[in-house]
Amino acid sequence: SYPVYGRIDGPIVMIGMGSIGKGTLPLIQRHFDFDADKMIVVDPDPGVGPFLAEQGIAFEQLALMPDNHREVLGRLFPDGQGFCVNLSVDTSSLDLMTACRDLGVLYVDTVVEPWAGFYFESRDNADRTNYALRESVRAEKRRSPGGPTAVSCCGANPGMVSWFVKEALLTLAADTGRAVDVPESREGWAALMQRLGVKGVHIAERDTQVRRKPRPRDVFVNTWSVEGFIAEGFQPAELGWGTHETWFPENGHRHETGCQASIWLDRPGAITRVHTWCPTPGPQFGFLVTHNEAISISDYYTIGDKAAPTYRPTCHYAYHPCDDAVLSLHEMFGSGKQQVVHEILEVDEIVEGIDELGVLLFGHEKNALWFGSRLSNEETKALAPYQNATGLQVTSAVLAGMVWALENPLAGIVEADEMNHARCLEVQRPYLGPVEAHYTDWTPLQDRWELFPEDIDESDPWLFRNVLAS
Ligand code: NAD
Repeated sequence: SYPVYGRIDGPIVMIGMGSIGKGTLPLIQRHFDFDADKMIVVDPDPGVGPFLAEQGIAFEQLALMPDNHREVLGRLFPDGQGFCVNLSVDTSSLDLMTACRDLGVLYVDTVVEPWAGFYFESRDNADRTNYALRESVRAEKRRSPGGPTAVSCCGANPGMVSWFVKEALLTLAADTGRAVDVPESREGWAALMQRLGVKGVHIAERDTQVRRKPRPRDVFVNTWSVEGFIAEGFQPAELGWGTHETWFPENGHRHETGCQASIWLDRPGAITRVHTWCPTPGPQFGFLVTHNEAISISDYYTIGDKAAPTYRPTCHYAYHPCDDAVLSLHEMFGSGKQQVVHEILEVDEIVEGIDELGVLLFGHEKNALWFGSRLSNEETKALAPYQNATGLQVTSAVLAGMVWALENPLAGIVEADEMNHARCLEVQRPYLGPVEAHYTDWTPLQDRWELFPEDIDESDPWLFRNVLAS
């Protein structure tokens, strides 16, 4: 009874079979017509072998590397058709995407990932930003426009949240009595956001999933890739920098080249806290962890010259991961050592909780609107196997990205902002649990510790100066 969205001719090659790969596999099996004997998984971890053997799926135990990826992909895609689904860590998204496009095959990933070593090599912090990673993909798009579709960064965030921003803008327009046609261009969407008076967007997330067992000391516990989270947590904090900002952080840096939509702070994102808001907790701290969407959304909605725009929204992640991950971060940064043992909360050990992931559009006439998915782990169990709520928000976005790519096979390199949000959400929504809009009168000036005066600016509650926790 599940819709089949189309036929994938040729091999489906899945790179990486971690928490997101395992969750994506059943959705591919459910929603596409393809030759099962042409599906193959590439992953260096022998531990994924038994899971794949049970399902009768071919497995090549191998790490893709700078010097073997072209040969491996060329061998696995011998005749210029098929789909590469890259859900790995430690592989260069840019190199894999370029190789796939050269081979004429479709491609999707959920992050601009670099080859192993990038995140921790000592080098200029500006070079370790997501800005630098994203600019490398944007440069390839400019160098080689059009051609086989490669969907870059199509998970929950980055990914789905870009579709939520558009849906939230249409909701806000309707709720403020403005009759608008759905924009059909980047310029149209940017003009709509400006007209609605949106000053910025938090990617506002609260993960409340818990298991019964307390977190053991020296173990990093998370609801998705620990390796991925540690890597991005150690990158400098980054945010799209809006035109309403009147102050500049002392440790902030701009970029001289590229889209210039964002700035970075000389501080790891996972210990940089911001004031934000989600429906379940109300006001909360989130971590300003760098993410591709913080840059892509600010870039997409820019009006005017990139170096001196007339309008640009501030945009950043404000992430409260599951409580065990908060404790894990505290331990890791406090001790100066990464935990060696990593655990991802399994769907069946989670006793309660939801992943509440949405976009908080702020600064407009209705103050702030949160729009997002409030998917519980319980509901996830009924919807799809092998994943928790966090996983399903990501894997269903991968599914939507694959459907869009199949329907638009010659769109070149695209990000979620550049795709048809309505079509993507149509595919994804059955897997998102309650998708809701919530208005709030909360601002970052409320609910602070009045006994300790802070260096804030009350002339505009939504300045980043007030959002950044001291
Ligand atoms: P994971 O750590 O559970 O799994 C990663 C897999 O990649 C592992 O099985 C590992 O063995 C494999 N791998 C490592 N090196 C490899 C190589 N050289 N070649 C091939 N495979 C290799 O991670 P996950 O939770 O499944 O996440 C996968 C990716 O998705 C990560 O890059 C993560 O950042 C990203 N992600 C994106 C979102 C989003 O919303 N956009 C959300 C979650 C995860």
